[in-house]
Amino acid sequence: MSQLNEAAIRDVVSEVLAQLQSKGSLGMPTIQVRPGKHGVFDDADQAVSAARSGFEQLQKKGWGARTQIVNIVKKMCVDNAERWGDIEYNETKIGRRAHKPLKLQGVQNVLGPEYLVPQGMSGDFGITMDEAAPWGVIVGVTPLTHSVPTIAGNIINMVAAGNSVVFNPHPGGAAVAALAVNEINEAIQAETGITNLVCTIEKPTLDSFNALCSHQDVDLLCITGGPGVVDAAMKTGKRAICAGPGNPPVVVDDCSALDFDRVARDIITGGGFDNNLLCIAEKQIIAVADSYKKTLDAMIRQGAVLLNAQQLEAIKKEVFDFKDGVGCGSAVLNRKWVGANPDALARIAGLNLDSSVEMLIAETDANDPFVQEEQMMPLLPIVRANDFSQALSIAKQSEHGDKHSAMIHSMNVERLTQMGQEMDTTIYVKNGPCVAGLGMGGEGFISYSIATTTGEGITTPRTFTRYRRCTLVNNLNIVR
Ligand code: NAD
Repeated sequence: MSQLNEAAIRDVVSEVLAQLQSKGSLGMPTIQVRPGKHGVFDDADQAVSAARSGFEQLQKKGWGARTQIVNIVKKMCVDNAERWGDIEYNETKIGRRAHKPLKLQGVQNVLGPEYLVPQGMSGDFGITMDEAAPWGVIVGVTPLTHSVPTIAGNIINMVAAGNSVVFNPHPGGAAVAALAVNEINEAIQAETGITNLVCTIEKPTLDSFNALCSHQDVDLLCITGGPGVVDAAMKTGKRAICAGPGNPPVVVDDCSALDFDRVARDIITGGGFDNNLLCIAEKQIIAVADSYKKTLDAMIRQGAVLLNAQQLEAIKKEVFDFKDGVGCGSAVLNRKWVGANPDALARIAGLNLDSSVEMLIAETDANDPFVQEEQMMPLLPIVRANDFSQALSIAKQSEHGDKHSAMIHSMNVERLTQMGQEMDTTIYVKNGPCVAGLGMGGEGFISYSIATTTGEGITTPRTFTRYRRCTLVNNLNIVR
């Protein structure tokens, strides 16, 4: 048996074992959806017209129904965290099974209707109210990396703002999307009587994307994904809220006051979560002068496995395709390895690791594809910078102006400030893991759609509203 065949068979066996362990001896869950019912459609026109009716029903039911529906979706995400998480893992085959339920439970911290506070004005000329009104029907495009968590978070934000939604999910996570949409609609209908408030395309394609985006009855797009879909959405002519790609750096400053074990743990927590699938995740470490060795040693103490140069090269040649030779800036990500387990990546280099290993690290220079590409693998490159100013310039260059996320570990207030100002990212986390920027271990709320490209930031119900003003002239200004 050739080495390649042996490795491939080991991959399959460990995948099957992981699935059996996760499900007990009963094996895989089955996905049952009822197309044409409870929001699942195979046709864009039908889905939009059903969602339009859902929107009108919600308008008639008022604010109470919005709160009720948000509570239904939040409770379902908790109650079904394990089951939906398992089904999503088995369908998408990326990330860490154990982290899938955590992402669904995190939906508790998505903002609801309470966030929409009208602004009142009163003065000599009467009173005026500015209010956040719904758009109507929104089209949501969701990524492979977090199918149901993005769908659930979008529903909460969008319905809290009074809208209905049609999803065109990533085809690789469309079955679990249909299952969740179906069950959510069934629960919404049972408790409120509203039908088809949340719809999805059962077998999404580029054609269904185009049909939805050009539909005259669609009022707004919300796109969560990489550069291709963001570009496509911006060209449709519809207003689009785009949560685009990123390549977040983490800088470790050379502060003697830093606890480097804590720094390493934070990097592993954020960068290792769901095998680095989070768009906000630490994707390259840039360590300043003396902190380089301290960080590397602490990462190893905290369980990361250091690859040598040959092992890194072997993995690099497998997970990237090089058009014009290795290292010439022509790396194209081999998506098969996105979200792979560290032990599966290590096996490419002939290294046998336990499946509990959370992260691989490798010493690279700043031009390495692992630094420059948004590779979404639990293999973090660590780059040495001579001083803070060089670290900052590597961090800025490798973020490519996505204005997405950046992290730093430092006790120097001036440097914390300088990096925040220069990176100009939507999320900037100091002295914690990236997830602290989404309220997990830090203050604040969460959304799985961080509107970086179009600038709305971490989405809230307000993101999905249009402002309307109502003015009464010369009356009801009771305070003089
Ligand atoms: P992807 O871009 O391959 O797919 C995202 C969605 O767009 C899918 O539904 C896919 O079917 C669709 N799509 C892709 N190309 C398209 C095109 N040309 N026209 C129409 N539809 C198209 O991304 P992915 O692998 O599913 O997710 C990972 C990417 O998403 C990363 O770049 C990550 O940074 C980004 N992301 C961003 C956020 C955020 O909040 N900013 C959140 C999650 C993921």
